[in-house]
Amino acid sequence: MKKQSYLFSPRDIVSLAIDKSDQRFPVNRIFCVGRNYAQHSREMGDDPERDPPFFFCKDVSSVLNVTFSDVSEVSYPSGTNQYEYEAELVVALSKGGRNLSEKDALNAIFGYSIGLDMTRRDLQVQAKKKGRPWEIGKSFEQSAPLSPIKMVQHIGILDRGSIELKVDGITKQKSNLSCLTWSVTEVISRLSSMFELHAGDLIMTGTPENVGSVEIGETIDVSIEGIGGFQLKVIE
Ligand code: MN
Repeated sequence: MKKQSYLFSPRDIVSLAIDKSDQRFPVNRIFCVGRNYAQHSREMGDDPERDPPFFFCKDVSSVLNVTFSDVSEVSYPSGTNQYEYEAELVVALSKGGRNLSEKDALNAIFGYSIGLDMTRRDLQVQAKKKGRPWEIGKSFEQSAPLSPIKMVQHIGILDRGSIELKVDGITKQKSNLSCLTWSVTEVISRLSSMFELHAGDLIMTGTPENVGSVEIGETIDVSIEGIGGFQLKVIE
C-alpha cells in the first residue's frame, strides 16, 4: 500500500512512561470527573447529595510528563491570576468498550498515575457564570502534569490510601481514595454509557477538598499511597 503523505508532520504521539517497563502508554483521550469528593463539591458551591459527578475532557496536548525522581517544572500559564492545583488519582485503561459493567470496568484498568488537574480558576469561574465551555480554564498546555503509570499487576487495585498535596512543604490537600463519591469502577461504567472507551484513555478521577493557588517559585509535592509521588516547581 502506498504510504500516506501529509501536508505537514502530524503531532507526536503523547504517551506516559510505565514503571518497570520499556514500553510507553500511548494516550488516547483524557476524561476528567468534575466533582467526586463530597467536601470538594461543597467548597465549589454544589450539593454533593443532589448532583451526580459530571465529566469534561482535557486535550492530550495538556499532558506534561513528570518523573518520580526529579523535580519537574511547569510554566505559569498566560491569562490568569488564579492558577490552582487539584491532586487526582488517574486511571489508565488498556481496554475499552461501551456500556461496561463494573466487572468489565475493573478488567479494563491497566494501572494508575498521579495527576494534577491544573486550572485557571478565574477563567473557569467566569465560564461557569456565563454558561460557556471550560476549556479555557481546564484544557491548556501543561494543564495535566502526569506521573509514570504503575501497573495493577504490580500494585493491585487501589480503592483506599492517602492522597496528599503540599506546597513548599505545607500540606494543602489531604484525603483518602476511600472518600471518592463515585468509585473508579462506577466512573468507568458511567462514562462508557456516554462514550465508547478505548485502550489509552485516561480518567482523572476528581480532587479532594482544599484546592488553592500557586505562584511562580513555589513547588508542589503530590503523593498517593501505593503509587508514589512527584515534585513540580512553578516557573515563569
Ligand atoms: Mn479536577
